[in-house]
Amino acid sequence: MSPFEIAEPATIADALALLSGDDPDIRPLAGGSALMLMMKSGVFRPTRLVSLRRLDEFTGIAATPEGGIRIGAMTSLAAIEHSSLVKQRAPVIVEAMRRLANVRVRNQACIGGALAHGDPHLDMPPLLAALGAEVTIVGPEGERKVAVADLYVGYYQTVLAGDELIREVSIPSLAGRHTAYQKCTTRSADDWPALGVAVNLRAGKSGISEARIVVGAVAEIPTQLRNVEMILQGRTLDQALLAQAGEAAAAELSPTSDARGSAAYKRQLVKVYVGRAIAAAMDVVAS
Ligand SMILES: Cc1cc2nc3c(=O)[nH]c(=O)nc-3n(C[C@H](O)[C@H](O)[C@H](O)COP(=O)(O)OP(=O)(O)OC[C@H]3O[C@@H](n4cnc5c(N)ncnc54)[C@H](O)[C@@H]3O)c2cc1C
Repeated sequence: MSPFEIAEPATIADALALLSGDDPDIRPLAGGSALMLMMKSGVFRPTRLVSLRRLDEFTGIAATPEGGIRIGAMTSLAAIEHSSLVKQRAPVIVEAMRRLANVRVRNQACIGGALAHGDPHLDMPPLLAALGAEVTIVGPEGERKVAVADLYVGYYQTVLAGDELIREVSIPSLAGRHTAYQKCTTRSADDWPALGVAVNLRAGKSGISEARIVVGAVAEIPTQLRNVEMILQGRTLDQALLAQAGEAAAAELSPTSDARGSAAYKRQLVKVYVGRAIAAAMDVVAS
């Protein structure tokens, strides 16, 4: 590893001043779980890492008056997993955490790093996109808000400039929502996903009135299944609809092959898991 500097600013202004919009060898450091792997393998050789651990504005989990949750970017995944507020207001996140890597990684990795990294094989981006979450980004020009669904533009690429930071993520109220996250791994149970499917539905006596379904790990960025969402609109769930949703999802996506499965295999996974995730959200057993 080549020598590099670690800066530990105590204010956002100092952190932003230490970052660079032009130099890719200067990066923010959160839990370091991804950065260290990239540095050990020689893919990334930093000249400066800007640690965010002393920034008070980047910490904490708080309830919003509208019934949502605000989570500081430097909050560890383990803190989110064990938060009684998250369990009460967004239990789907707690459930997803249990199969995200292992205790060691969840203790280390932070929600800001999990969202900013841009690796298509992560669990939080599709889930938080489906839940309608948004990030608050701070930079030299001030603050802006971006939906998690709009954060990704390509393989390991986000809309974040080199001198911008995710300060927090806000999850809206999920009252009255039916949510689920289904993950398929092809190695160990806690591996990076071969497929992740996140579902967020509003449904009543007259059927499904709103649907948002986002899949991860099949393409370069989390992908919203708009055709499937349209098919579900106004319908009441039964086994035929679950099968139709799975078929439509497989037709809508163009999966890419990777170390966890070929494109054809992933298409088959999508067909099965989209139906399963919708069924899980509605508490129905898929046949
Ligand atoms: C063995 C192993 C298994 C794993 N399995 C899974 C899995 O199954 N599912 C899953 O979802 N994840 C998994 N992870 C975690 C995932 O791969 C990343 O390592 C993790 O999400 C990165 O979080 P971090 O806080 O450590 O980020 P870091 O490594 O510190 O940073 C990652 C990137 O984000 C940038 N960054 C960090 N914070 C900010 C911020 N606030 N604003 C702007 N940019 C920022 C950094 O500059 C860097 O580019 C696994 C990790 C390991 C090591």
